[in-house]
Amino acid sequence: MSDIIQTTGKKLTAPKIGVVSLGCPKALVDSERIMTQLRSEGYQFSDKHDGADVVIVNTCGFLDSAKEESLAAIGKAMKDNGKVIVTGCMGAEPEQILSKYPNIMAVTGPHQYEDVVGAVHDVVPPVHDPFLDLVPPEGLKLTPRHYSYLKISEGCNNRCSFCIIPKLRGDLVSRPIHHVMFEAEKLVNAGVKELLVISQDTSAYGLDTKYAEYPWRGTRRKTKFLDLCEALGELGVWIRLHYVYPYPHVDAAIELMAQGKILPYLDIPFQHAAPSVLKAMKRPAHQEKTLERIQNWRKICPDLTVRSSFIVGFPGETEDDFEYLLEWMQEAGIDRAGCFKYEPVQGADSNALDNHVPEELKQERWERFMEIQRQVSAERQEAKIGRTLEVIIDDVDDEGGADGRSHADAPEIDGAVLIRDAHGVKQGDIIKVKIEDADDYDLYGVPVQA
Ligand code: SF4
Repeated sequence: MSDIIQTTGKKLTAPKIGVVSLGCPKALVDSERIMTQLRSEGYQFSDKHDGADVVIVNTCGFLDSAKEESLAAIGKAMKDNGKVIVTGCMGAEPEQILSKYPNIMAVTGPHQYEDVVGAVHDVVPPVHDPFLDLVPPEGLKLTPRHYSYLKISEGCNNRCSFCIIPKLRGDLVSRPIHHVMFEAEKLVNAGVKELLVISQDTSAYGLDTKYAEYPWRGTRRKTKFLDLCEALGELGVWIRLHYVYPYPHVDAAIELMAQGKILPYLDIPFQHAAPSVLKAMKRPAHQEKTLERIQNWRKICPDLTVRSSFIVGFPGETEDDFEYLLEWMQEAGIDRAGCFKYEPVQGADSNALDNHVPEELKQERWERFMEIQRQVSAERQEAKIGRTLEVIIDDVDDEGGADGRSHADAPEIDGAVLIRDAHGVKQGDIIKVKIEDADDYDLYGVPVQA
């Protein structure tokens, strides 16, 4: 790094980027966009390769002579600097570049501005200037400082018959893994202690990118569910997974939970258990043997908490289907569950199904479901009395009381651990709590002195 920004008495070092832009005016505009984004993040530019922290070469691959010129420009940047990111038309065929220059930091295709900027972040992160920047490095957040949601993708490739999200948000678009990790790292640096991974279908992460691989902190990681779990698990904070489907490849994440790398918590929106209802719902993974899978997960990771949501009164749901669901829920030991009465959403395919369930029957099933769920939850809560659990503190009062959450509790949707004699404890602390009592959804305890 080389440049010094003088602010109100404070000196900051801004990273410098070299840019070589080859080819047509369209490529030039691409370079301008990349530079505009980098400049807005506080980067400076160097007109010499050897004065830069990294060099971006925006290539042209229109003719063989243009390719040769691009390869020569890459070679010069490698010789003069050694840290080079390649983008542009030639980036669409990365093997041509990597076979000649295997030590290139990243290769991205044309129009992949976000990827180029992400690759720059990876090589040389932006420097936050608290005196000039209007937004803190972790962005503006609506959650408390100690936890944050981490969105890894948009849209969904599934077509559940009751849902219109794919119509509203389109198919799955996953964020490249290094972008997600860069954001996660910024949040952790800003004091976040718990990251909640969210998407429409977390287990499908990266499918749309064909699991594209990117450099991340000296390693190469795929834009893929397990790689993401592993990389997040290295950040040293609580990692909680939401909206995961029970596909076989999820099994490997349970191993990470058993090793303490990510929280032993899975939020799986099962929606139902009866095969005919799942089929009518067109649910992802509806053919997987989920009961067996959950039982197997619990053998690997006995502390696993499974949260889920369910729909009762789906069109065509019979009394047998509903009872199947209740039994399944008890057998699976679903720790936490939300339940909704089916509603016909405008535009959803399920509206056209036969045998809609009358409202009174939906209500009756909902009440029966909630009662069984209360019993399952109470049993599982009671089993925790006498144990010592790790708890993250959400809130403290002036009389030594504190509210927190264990590994088993996501914010807003799950129960709490209510702690007495917690003098000196602060929001965001992670402490050990001996559980003395439990009710259906909450636990009660005292801090264990270290
Ligand atoms: S319910 Fe979830 S998985 Fe199904 S289509 Fe909607 S967003 Fe996708």
